[in-house]
Amino acid sequence: MRAIGLSLLLLLLAAPAARAQTVVIDPGHGGSDPGAVGCGLEEEDVVLDIARRTRDLLRADGVDAILTREDDRSVGLSARASFANSRGASRFVSIHANANAGTPATGTETFVYTSASSTSRTMGQQVQDEMIAAWGLRNRGLKSANFAVLRLTSMPAALSETGFINRCDPDAALLGSASARQEMAVAHYRAILRSLGRTPGDPGPAPEPEPEPEPEPEPSG
Ligand code: ZN
Repeated sequence: MRAIGLSLLLLLLAAPAARAQTVVIDPGHGGSDPGAVGCGLEEEDVVLDIARRTRDLLRADGVDAILTREDDRSVGLSARASFANSRGASRFVSIHANANAGTPATGTETFVYTSASSTSRTMGQQVQDEMIAAWGLRNRGLKSANFAVLRLTSMPAALSETGFINRCDPDAALLGSASARQEMAVAHYRAILRSLGRTPGDPGPAPEPEPEPEPEPEPSG
C-alpha cells in the first residue's frame, strides 16, 4: 500500500498543472449596502445566492470561479474590479437585481461598458439571451453604461440585471424562489461557458498532452 501511495504521489507531482481559466463572479452590494429592496427581499441576498450557485456550476465544469464576496459584507466597487484584475481573470460578471421609482417595471437587461470590447458585448448578449430563456421576463435588451466595475476591469465584463425586485409579480417572485435562482445561475453558467468558447455541459477542452497516460483510478468499492 505504501508503494502504491508513493507512486501515485509521484504521478501527481509529475502531472502538469491544469490551467483552468479564472472567472470572477461579482454579487452586487452587500454589508452596509443592501442594494435594491422590495417585496420583502434585499438585492444583496438574492444576488449572492445566484452568484454562489453560478460559481458552483462553473467549478463543477473545471472553471476556476471565484466570488468578490463570499458573504454579507461591504466591498467597494474599485476593490471588486482590482480583485478580478489581480487574479488575472478571463471574464468578470456582476449580478444584480433592478429597481425603479414609481410604478414597478419588469424585465431583464444586461450592461456592458460604454466602450466595451466586442468580446464583452458578445458575452453580454449571451448573458441576456440565457436569462431571457431561463425566466422569460420582458427582454429589455443589452445596454451600455459607465459603471465602475465595467470601466475598471481589464477583462471582458458584463453586468446582469436579473429582474425588478420591487415588482412583486413576476420578477420578485422569481428572485425569491430558490429553484428560480438556480435557473438564473444556470443561465449565467451557460453564458460564461459560451463566452469561453465552450459548449455548456461538455467536459471541457481536451487537456494538454501529457508525457504518460494517466492510470485508471482504483475502484473505490
Ligand atoms: Zn445592484
